[in-house]
This record gives sequence, C-alpha cells and structure tokens, in this order.
Amino acid sequence: MRSTMQDDQLTIDAIRRHVVAVHPDGEVVTATADGSRTRSYAELGERTSRLASALRGLGVDGDQRVATFQWNNVEHLEAYLAVPSMGAVLHTLNIRLFPEQLVYVANHAEDHVVIVDDSLVGLLAPQLGEMTTVEHVVVAGPDAASADLDSLRSSGKQVHLYEELLAAAEPTFDWPEIDERDAAAMCYTSGTTGNPKGVVYSHRSAYLHSMAVCGGNTGGLSFEDRVLPIVPMFHANAWGLPYSAMMSGASLCMPDRWLQAEPLVRFVTESRPTLSGGVPTVWNDVLQHLDANPGTRLDSLRLVLCGGSAVPVSLQQALQERHGIMVRQAWGMTETSPVASLGLPPLGCSEEEQWRYRGTQGRLLCGVSARIVADDQSVLPADGASVGELEVRGPWVTASYYRPEESEREEAEAKFHDGWLRTGDVGHLDELGYISLTDRAKDVIKSGGEWISSVDLENALMAHDAVLEAAVVAIPDEKWQERPLASVVVRDGASVTADELREHLARDFAKWQLPDAWTFIDEVPRTSVGKFDKKVLRRRFADGELRVEQ
Ligand code: ADP
Repeated sequence: MRSTMQDDQLTIDAIRRHVVAVHPDGEVVTATADGSRTRSYAELGERTSRLASALRGLGVDGDQRVATFQWNNVEHLEAYLAVPSMGAVLHTLNIRLFPEQLVYVANHAEDHVVIVDDSLVGLLAPQLGEMTTVEHVVVAGPDAASADLDSLRSSGKQVHLYEELLAAAEPTFDWPEIDERDAAAMCYTSGTTGNPKGVVYSHRSAYLHSMAVCGGNTGGLSFEDRVLPIVPMFHANAWGLPYSAMMSGASLCMPDRWLQAEPLVRFVTESRPTLSGGVPTVWNDVLQHLDANPGTRLDSLRLVLCGGSAVPVSLQQALQERHGIMVRQAWGMTETSPVASLGLPPLGCSEEEQWRYRGTQGRLLCGVSARIVADDQSVLPADGASVGELEVRGPWVTASYYRPEESEREEAEAKFHDGWLRTGDVGHLDELGYISLTDRAKDVIKSGGEWISSVDLENALMAHDAVLEAAVVAIPDEKWQERPLASVVVRDGASVTADELREHLARDFAKWQLPDAWTFIDEVPRTSVGKFDKKVLRRRFADGELRVEQ
C-alpha cells in the first residue's frame, strides 16, 4: 500500500521559502572591524532572488557549480540559499587549503563562478589563472570596490562586483522545481592522503541533517535562538548550523574573519548568540581569554556544540565551572554532513558518570546507524569494550566519493563496506549508542601488539594545569614497533618537566602506556581546518627537527 501523503520535495529551496515568508524579522548579524552590520531574512528574500538572477545572467545553468571563497558572513549565506535553490551546486572552497589543493578541487568540481570576499582577493588571485573552468569572479563584501581587482583580472577571468550585479539584476526569480535527490552542495575532505575527495550533498540529505541538528537531542533550536557558527561555512557546511538556524527561524551571528579570541568574545557580548559551534582549539583560546579577563561574561550562550576533534573533559569542565558555558561534544565527518552523534549523557547518572559520557563522542542521532568492525571485517558487539573501526550509515552519510581519480579509485572504494562508510576512526560503541573513540586509524599507536590511545593520553595531559596543548604520536621503536611521543605546549608563565607529566599520567595509565619520549614545542601544528596535524609532528620527528627527551 502506498501512503496518501503529499510528496513535497525536501529541498534547500523549501528552507529558503520558509525563512523568508515565516521569519522575515529574523536577522543576520555579520561582524566588522569595529562593530557589525545586520540584514533581515526579509531582505535576504529579495537579495537571494537577485543573486540567482545575476548568476543566471553569468550563464549559470543546470547543475553548474558555483564556488564560494568566503568567511562566515551574510553574503556567504545568500549564496547558501540562492545557489542550491536555483538548481545549481554550491561548492564551498576551503580558504586554508594549500594552493595546489585549492586549484585541484576547483578544477575537479568544474567550478564556473567563484564568489570571493573582498578580504580574500589576495589569497585567491595567485591561483585563479590555473582554475581552468572558472569564467567569472564575483567580489563581495563592504570593501569590494577597493579590493585589488586587477590582480583578479590579470588571470583572464571576468570580474564583477557583487553589489553591482545584485543592483542590476531582476528582483524576482523563477525558482525551478527541484528533485530532492539532486546535488545541492559539495565539499572536499582535507585531512586524507592523496588528492582531496569530494562529497556531494543532496537537497534531501541537507534538509534531513538540518532537522536533526534542530532536534532536542542536538541543538534544540527555535526562533528564539541566535546561532553563532564559528566553524567555517567552507568546512562541512558549518555543521549544518546555517540551514538549521533558518529552518527554525533563529537569527544568525556571523563572525566573518574575526576568529581570534579577543574579537570573537567581543562579538559574542555584542551580538548575544544563544548557541554556538566550533572546534576545541577555538574554545580553548576563548577559555584563556576569559580566564585573563575575569569581568567578561558570555552569559547569552546556553549551549556550545564542539567537535571536529576530541573535546577534552578538562576543557568542558573549565568552561562550565569557571564561565558558565555548557559544552556538548559532537562527532562527525565531512562525509556525514557532518553531525552524527552528540554527547548528552543518559538519564539518571551520577555527576561523575555524566562527565564520563561527556568525554565520549556522543550518542547516535536518529537516522545514523553505527557498528564496530574488526580488522578481519567481522562485526564486533556494541558492548562498550570491543575496539575496532567505526562504520556508519544513514540518509546524510555519503555512499561514495565524487569521481575519484583513476589512480585513487580503489582506495576511494575501499572506504565503503557493504553499504557502510568506514570512518577511519577507531573506538567502541556501547549498548546505549554512545561512541567512544580512541584514535584515528592512521594515528593509532601499536606498542608490542597492544593499542595505546593517543586521545586518552592527550586528554589527560591537557587536564594538567601547566599544559596548554598536547599531541601524542607514534614513533618507531626497535623492540615494541611503536612507542608514544608526547609533544607538549606549556601554558604561558607555567613550567613543568617530562618527569612531572609522567607522574601525572601514571595515576590513570599503566606503565607501558606512558610516553617515554617527550618534546616541548611552542605550538601544535594544525591542518587547514584547525585540527592537530600529527603527520607534521611525525615528519618533524623523522627529520630530527624535534628536541626529544627520553
Ligand atoms: P578531515 O579529514 O579534514 O579532518 P573532517 O573534518 O571530515 O575531515 O574530519 C572528520 C574526522 O574528525 C573524524 O573522522 C574524526 O577523526 C575527527 N573528529 C570529529 N569529531 C570528533 C570528536 N568529537 N572526537 C574525536 N574526533 C573527532
């Protein structure tokens, strides 16, 4: 029997229509050097129609790709709405990619137009000539007219000013009917070996994922909220926060390029978001800033979603106990749209247990299934103890990569296993659907055949008062194959020795798990999306660049 229900398509255009018609008074506040600028969702309604008309005028047709090279700001949001709603595909370029990777992804996606922020013109211009499919560059932002447009023109592309294009464009657009399974947006994963790999989101996956992020077990969003996505809109759609906010009519606070703790904290006190999302390193910086400025309160925030890498319990505790900021750990990947689980503890547990659960990668959201798989591909029980690779599936999990290169096809296909995505993350799953990760497969430390969790060691080290950051990697060892090397950044004004840190760890770890090599560094190297870059640490060690204490 088929249902009697109507078959309206789940599209980004539906989110656009809803937010403009039902929440015209919601606002988008974008940070500027000395304050902010604000546009209402009603204004976005007309501006997104003008943007779609303008892009059509530049020849954007069918499922052509429109790339963005932008911070989190209102113009980027306009592209988020207009591009997928006109049937084209939004390709958010990661501004922190290495130049060759940036050129690779633009060519691989066959971008036709690039919308670039005025403040990023200098970063894009040197690469533009090599982006062979790009024909038009549109410069957005309050200072677009005074940007170095000649540096863009010298690449031979046609250069336009965003506001001029919008002013000249039709204020209405004949939005097409869209099939919810068609492509809406694409994003390339960054941290892997070889070329970045493309993930193509459908309208349906974006819509369902946004609903999941709105849900009570996740963000619990309503139109009373104000949402501050600190995680970039060029990284896994800012965790779906922009679409989720608009779906619920919540206002958006956009930090643009002001991501350092001081301007960010100022923006929070002025724009008063209720919910934010960002990686642990950002919140660690915010914590240092708040500790150093005791009068500053971020009391508008009711919830911070944090993920992208393990969120130390010590960080969550410090933010909550010293500054009243509630942090929840989330787990996900570009391939999973990205949010798949969230660390809300189960009912009825003691305070100690609550903190333990908050240290996990969280409880699965409805829609996402997970399992743990052993090296021999057998499925292990979800018993909170059996460790293996995490595999996930669901309507907002990718089923393949976009057109992998011939030479990388096999590797790309090997990321999928009987319809499940192999996450490359290692850990266990418990009876209640909580994921606990101990490592990424490529970062595991195997000492004498036993696994040592780098994540557990890092969390314990970062809980020490004198430690600002710590990253633990495997180094080769003749006897044990691999042993842990701890790289530690000491907090300003503090001092600590390797012996003291070993003693600190010895309370929670077996002797054979303790790092026997230590290095004290100024900062932990980061990837393009701000995560600890362990590849670089391993290379520095191999090249003898680190001063190691044994
Ligand atoms: P990249 O490969 O560029 O890091 P993603 O941003 O998609 O790409 O990263 C996804 C990975 O980030 C996950 O596979 C996992 O290793 C890590 N990650 C995300 N959230 C968490 C978390 N809460 N705890 C530990 N690791 C996490």
